[in-house]
Amino acid sequence: MTAYVSALDLFSIGIGPSSSHTVGPMRAARVFAEDLVATGRSSEVGRIRCSLFGSLGSTGLGHGTPDAVLAGLTGLRPETCDPSEVHGAWSGLNDGASLTLLGGHSIPFQTDDVHFEPRTRLPGHPNALTLTAWAKETDAPPLLEETFYSIGGGFIRRGTERSSAQARVAQPLPYDSSAELLALCEAHELTICEVARRNEEAIHGAAALDAGLDAIWDAMHTCVDAGLSHTGLLPGGLKVKRRAAAVRMRLEEYDGLPLRDRDTSTEWLHAFALAVNEENAAGGRVVTAPTNGAAGIIPAVGHYYLRFVPGADAAGIRRYLLTAVAIGSLVKANASISGAEGGCQAEVGAACAMASGALCAVLGGTPRQVENAAEIAMEHHLGLTCDPVGGLVQVPCIERNAIASSTAVSAARMALHGDGTHLVSLDTVIETMRQTGLDMMTKYKETSEGGLAVNVIEC
Ligand code: SF4
Repeated sequence: MTAYVSALDLFSIGIGPSSSHTVGPMRAARVFAEDLVATGRSSEVGRIRCSLFGSLGSTGLGHGTPDAVLAGLTGLRPETCDPSEVHGAWSGLNDGASLTLLGGHSIPFQTDDVHFEPRTRLPGHPNALTLTAWAKETDAPPLLEETFYSIGGGFIRRGTERSSAQARVAQPLPYDSSAELLALCEAHELTICEVARRNEEAIHGAAALDAGLDAIWDAMHTCVDAGLSHTGLLPGGLKVKRRAAAVRMRLEEYDGLPLRDRDTSTEWLHAFALAVNEENAAGGRVVTAPTNGAAGIIPAVGHYYLRFVPGADAAGIRRYLLTAVAIGSLVKANASISGAEGGCQAEVGAACAMASGALCAVLGGTPRQVENAAEIAMEHHLGLTCDPVGGLVQVPCIERNAIASSTAVSAARMALHGDGTHLVSLDTVIETMRQTGLDMMTKYKETSEGGLAVNVIEC
């Protein structure tokens, strides 16, 4: 089994605000609905209950988990759904409401058919949900009951199976650590991007890979554009004001002045990240990169590259995405990209490492410099907790993506000044992140029971 996860899985087009709490549960509910159809008894279903455990029970309400479950049961997919059809579906249920399941059978459905059980943590993962379907009475044996784990980045796992993305065909250049990845680069005289491309082409073929990468970048670009133009307050009750559009307008005015006396590249970088994370918080179309909470960093640094690096082009963006995935695969396989499992170091730390290494690569860095950039970026996120105020992916998440984008650029530039040799390896920092995540108290892992979440008064 190789650590490599395809770019077309690690970057998935979905909706906000959370990959683990929105995208994953929607996928799980859709799989459950498909399984019901496969039993041949879906038309007998009279009642369905969904239990949300652990972190899904703690912050699922603010992350739109019940809406996502309803959407999945009706057959919607995160990749293709209209976000406006998803959001508010559960809270809008009234007495006598019904739900039309995938396959066309309708059942009565009430808000209390979704149970929140934050104190129950299933052993498989902090984000768990169980879906149960009965013919009529809930004291009779169910027609179908399945438990799913939403393991971060929109990936789901059922029972003890491995995630679908890991059950891949053999890859020509497998690796399980950054040391092995660097050894492959040196043995075959390849860049990290080229190793990733060989593995990807074995899965998808060259044409489908490039089409997939271009579609991912198009979705990232569309998200940045949308976020740079939308104004107003974000939903959820915190009254957080969108800022990206106002920053863009000021920067455009400033960039248009004849005697520009300051470098606005960092401010643009921040605006790109704010734009994505504001779109995510509003439940818009977002690419998990590698999660939704951390979705702003990779698009922001990619836009920074295109706008401010001479010679940047679309081919460079493909290299950028592939290098990012080679790094993200290592984090996912050897630690975690789930905030509920490892805190924010696993989400924003992982995205920052991916963006930094990838930027270093397209700026001409050697594989060892790329590994150094990713290591610097992750090292300085170690211990970062997840404590979203109000259980919403807004504070500190939105600004945190902007700041981490700066860190990614700084780490890439710092690594480019070295020769790639350094004391702490990327493998060591990933393992340290894993251990730190295990030691981190549960209240700092996407439960909103500690940190800022309990010290900021919600208005
Ligand atoms: S604090 Fe970090 S891990 Fe937690 S929801 Fe926000 S971005 Fe995700």
